[in-house]
Amino acid sequence: MPKITIIGSNMYELTTFTDHLPKRGETVAGYDFSEGFGGKGANQAIAAARLGADVDLLTVIGKDYFGRQQRQNYADNDINSAGIINGSRGSGVASIFVESSGTNRILVVKRANDELTPSMIDAHQALIRDAQIILLQQEIALATNYHVIELAKKYHVPVMLDPAPANLELDINYVVQVKFFTPNEHELAAVTGLPTYDLADIKRAGQTLIAAGLENLLVTLGSKGVLWMDQHHAQLIPAFPVQAVDTTGAGDAFAGSFAYYYTMGASIDAAIKFANQYAALSVTKYGTQRAYPTKKQMAKMDL
Ligand code: ADP
Repeated sequence: MPKITIIGSNMYELTTFTDHLPKRGETVAGYDFSEGFGGKGANQAIAAARLGADVDLLTVIGKDYFGRQQRQNYADNDINSAGIINGSRGSGVASIFVESSGTNRILVVKRANDELTPSMIDAHQALIRDAQIILLQQEIALATNYHVIELAKKYHVPVMLDPAPANLELDINYVVQVKFFTPNEHELAAVTGLPTYDLADIKRAGQTLIAAGLENLLVTLGSKGVLWMDQHHAQLIPAFPVQAVDTTGAGDAFAGSFAYYYTMGASIDAAIKFANQYAALSVTKYGTQRAYPTKKQMAKMDL
């Protein structure tokens, strides 16, 4: 069973559906509401665990009802509990407003996620040392991610960094140390400072990272698929065609499933194709974690 450690955020999602958003000072009656589990770190962990990986999630949960629900969710999905830390603050929350036009607005408050510090990483070093791959995103402090990258280097464990949400302060010297860097086109523009309007632009921007020493760049391009670049080639691996209804969490589904298949022994090319398929299935349903299929459900689908 592949052993994967995911280090990052968890958020409790509170989603309100409404015909239109209130103007300043106005109160509007929405037509539906749902609660759910999210956060980029937790989402990636759920995807990998549902596929059957042995997953450790290093995350800080809030000291409240939402935090207790999160812990139960990880247990329900067979995620190891060694890295699930009880924080002293309230839970990270994402207030999501979806208009009937489909437009959404998301307001994230990180709270307990800010307690995931480099010293907390040190206290859980074994989870880095014993993993086959480490997954990082950017909903926790950059300093914490940098520390993980350094420790993973010491233990010779490959790192996959998804620079979402984009952070203009991300230091390129750390980017080039990871084995897999997986921005979407907007995050690639943020990290390189170059335009990424079309594929030629994206390749040009990507080439600057490859020239700086990055081993593998995987630019996720939504329904277009993934552009994979390394020192020797650039290849567009097309998406798996589906009727998308909600693409939130697609990038996390991609990361978790890629890590699973790659650590099962697949080539990078095969792992991208598998993850394209898994992420495509996730966009055919509403929600993030609730849209991620298990290995069994995937096997039953006529792909
Ligand atoms: P992010 O959520 O980080 O912006 P993307 O939107 O690029 O990530 O999606 C990540 C991956 O999910 C894509 O590379 C692709 O494999 C898959 N995906 C996303 N949207 C679609 C879609 N409409 N049809 C098929 N696959 C999709």
